[in-house]
Amino acid sequence: LRLASYIEAGERRVGVVRGETVHRLADQRPLIEQIETGVDATGAADAGVPLSAVILEPPVRPRRNIVCVGWNYLAHFDEGKGKRGGGLQDGAEMPEHPAFFTKATFAAAGPFEDLPLHAHVTSKMDWEAELAVVIGRAGADIAEADALQHVFGYMVANDLSAREVQRRHGGQWFKGKSLDKCCPLGPVLVTRDEVPDPQALAIGCRVNGVEKQKASTAQMAFPITRIIAELSAGMTLLPGDVILTGTPGRCRLHPRSAGVPRRRRHRRDLD
Ligand code: MG
Repeated sequence: LRLASYIEAGERRVGVVRGETVHRLADQRPLIEQIETGVDATGAADAGVPLSAVILEPPVRPRRNIVCVGWNYLAHFDEGKGKRGGGLQDGAEMPEHPAFFTKATFAAAGPFEDLPLHAHVTSKMDWEAELAVVIGRAGADIAEADALQHVFGYMVANDLSAREVQRRHGGQWFKGKSLDKCCPLGPVLVTRDEVPDPQALAIGCRVNGVEKQKASTAQMAFPITRIIAELSAGMTLLPGDVILTGTPGRCRLHPRSAGVPRRRRHRRDLD
């Protein structure tokens, strides 16, 4: 299923997307409340409404902070070297365990809505395309072999990041990544059964039509199974929890800049 949360004629709805139309589910509770028991789309047999006629919201509004993996693609890790303010985050080697941080719940935003630039707080809002995992079944100390059984589905996410806010407040991530609406999610939540191999998905980002990121989830250093196993060690995951799995490196810039030292081309922090 491709599930959506949306506003139709002023009413908040949940539905299943088929092609370019969205069909109302019989159960209109928020998706996050339906995840635990499974979503029944059999009643969604109405004619549907064109997607272009509704306002898409984040497919799920997380109840708890959105968990993020700090870096998970080698190219992105290399981009951040020397820019992390020293200390733990500035190590020269990829860590042996995934780095975790969170974004506040109010960071969640619809996939196409206008977003505040927060210009009074930051002048450097950056983008990070990521595969988001939505937990479907609660668990702690989940083994890697069982991890995907706890996944309800997947979304596209953009881990928008205020870079100088990260630096200004001690090189942390939370404040710089938790400004209101700095985590667009969706447009849809795709259920696990539709994604036979989540480690073989294309992932990319275009900004004003320019391709900035183009990679595959096959390039993750820590696959989803490992992320869930490590995150759930001694820490219970709940249905509806959202986990962002890290962002790939950015595309090489225009060939004209090829001779410019890397540190000048990429004024970009890590995460
Ligand atoms: Mg990120």
